[in-house]
Amino acid sequence: MTVRDVGNRWGTYRQGEGENGRVALHWAVFQLPAHLVDYVIAHELAHIKIAGHGPDYWTLLRRAIPDCEARKEELDDLGRRLWLGQTAAAGDG
Ligand SMILES: [Zn+2]
Repeated sequence: MTVRDVGNRWGTYRQGEGENGRVALHWAVFQLPAHLVDYVIAHELAHIKIAGHGPDYWTLLRRAIPDCEARKEELDDLGRRLWLGQTAAAGDG
């Protein structure tokens, strides 16, 4: 896992060889309250199992964070007011 500028998203997951996938988190994530930092990390870790954001993905994420939809809404709302360096808007990575 690395922390850096990943553009206008909170994090990325890139599949590697075998189990050597890489999660990158935007440094701006650490301006968020802890429960939203947890959400972003869990969101990216869930992509190890399931790519994309289909129903299966949310079922998996809900097992780690039962109120993940509420946290996503909070992140979408709060995220618009965070400083992300040069980019103005945050995507959902
Ligand atoms: Zn995602």
